[in-house]
Amino acid sequence: MSAVVAEQASTTPTSDTGIREGAFGNARALSCRECGHRVDLGPHYACPECFGPLEIAYDFPAVTREEIEAGPRNIWRYKALLPVPADIEQSPNMEPGFTRLLKAHNLGRELGIDNLWVKDDSTNPTNSFKDRVVACALSAAREFHSKVFACPSTGNLANAVAAAGARAGIKTVVFIPSNLEQPKQVNSAVYTDSLVAVNGNYDDVNKLASEIAGEEDGWAFVNVNVRPYYAEGSKTLGYEIAEQLGWRLPDQIVIPVASGSQLTKVHKAFQELIKLGLVEEKPYKVYGAQATGCSPVSVAYKGGVDAIRPVKPDTIAKSLAIGNPADGIYVLDICRETGGAVEDISDDEVREAIVLLARTEGIFTETAGGTTVGVLKKLVESGQLDPSLETVVINTGHGLKTLDAVAGSVGPRATIDPSYAAFTATGIA
Ligand SMILES: *Cc1c(COP(=O)(O)O)cnc(C)c1O
Ligand SMILES: [Zn+2]
Repeated sequence: MSAVVAEQASTTPTSDTGIREGAFGNARALSCRECGHRVDLGPHYACPECFGPLEIAYDFPAVTREEIEAGPRNIWRYKALLPVPADIEQSPNMEPGFTRLLKAHNLGRELGIDNLWVKDDSTNPTNSFKDRVVACALSAAREFHSKVFACPSTGNLANAVAAAGARAGIKTVVFIPSNLEQPKQVNSAVYTDSLVAVNGNYDDVNKLASEIAGEEDGWAFVNVNVRPYYAEGSKTLGYEIAEQLGWRLPDQIVIPVASGSQLTKVHKAFQELIKLGLVEEKPYKVYGAQATGCSPVSVAYKGGVDAIRPVKPDTIAKSLAIGNPADGIYVLDICRETGGAVEDISDDEVREAIVLLARTEGIFTETAGGTTVGVLKKLVESGQLDPSLETVVINTGHGLKTLDAVAGSVGPRATIDPSYAAFTATGIA
């Protein structure tokens, strides 16, 4: 595989933008999702013609399953399909990915689903799926010679950026809403001396970041001005699920929706695998999960409309609390076209689902995973998801980061004196 990549890269003319040959592997340009206009690879994210979002366009070589399987047990096994150089493993990075795909017998039995899998991304280096996207953004920031690695974040992204920047030796500045969960603040501040808490919600923080990105030279905001590169990292979730199923696509997949980027990229990954002949073409349904307190995409889905009306988030699922989701309209398209749905659940249902997953599968998820598992349950109960079909649910983050969500609903069953009599009095034995 690397030989093919190197050969392809060497045939790419060096641009005059200071970007080294092969810096972005098999990526060839940025292409507008709305109008198809193409621009040279660079730190751009909006179409100069119509302001639509830019996406990476590739010229993929032939890639085989064997070449991928011979790669490292992290996302770089798919480097030929990402906007990264062939020598990406040489640069210090967090090496995320290749997380477990677990057969969820107990949860499946509980929900009445015959064939259920949990893709457990809580075991990534900073305990969320964000390490995947940040690894790709870091590679782009390096190639652009950025001096600051930054992001606006609902929490997990801040953790991932701060850690990756520390490992790479690049200055980091991360912006979060000031009401963020304490564990997520500490999990950023431990890696960086420049955690900035902003009095406002994520959408306010995001606006501020865009402004700073416009004013300051050499700042790579991972999900703003290098967003096209960043977003590609989510494809690796889709590649891994297919590979771990034995190079097959599942029938149904349930994915949490914040900005909607992850959901659109998992779908893109499945489509690429089909086009590359790495999996057999088959229909599959994509479902989006939101918390009712921030459910602009679910509301639009249920209302049968195409436009997304921004909301002010009010939910314990803070990592999903984006009131104005950038990729929301594409999520709607994908869920409708594939025959899936978008659904939302209350905060109490989120808490219950966190405990359900923990007690059935031994996986402690954060509120985002509670949202996804709870939505899965609701989809089955409401007849929107066929429980006889093979189903994958993605757990995107770790419960230790949102302890407060369940601290009030779980705890010691009894507090006793250290005597056998006291223990038998509890009735546990
Ligand atoms: C960021 C995040 C998501 C969703 O991200 P998108 O913006 O929709 O790509 C899901 N789960 C967790 C835990 C997250 O941190
Ligand atoms: Zn355009």
